[in-house]
Amino acid sequence: MRTRIRATGAACHLCGRAIDYSLPSSDPKSFVIDHVTALANGGQDALSNVKAAHRRHDCNSKKRARVHDDSVRRSNTLK
Ligand SMILES: [Zn+2]
Repeated sequence: MRTRIRATGAACHLCGRAIDYSLPSSDPKSFVIDHVTALANGGQDALSNVKAAHRRHDCNSKKRARVHDDSVRRSNTLK
């Protein structure tokens, strides 16, 4: 699974930034598999249910809500 995602060279689906797939797994910016539907919620461990993400960053610890808040704040300042 990891090898197949790595082969796509996909960007992080949480923050949209590129992932350096050459980083060791101990690096906070290295890549991890993120299940779109958690396995605990009945999600499958299949390529259709996984996306690449950074191991650790702000948007990962607070998930999509944080990303959404930031974009709302930015658009407000533009008005
Ligand atoms: Zn990211």
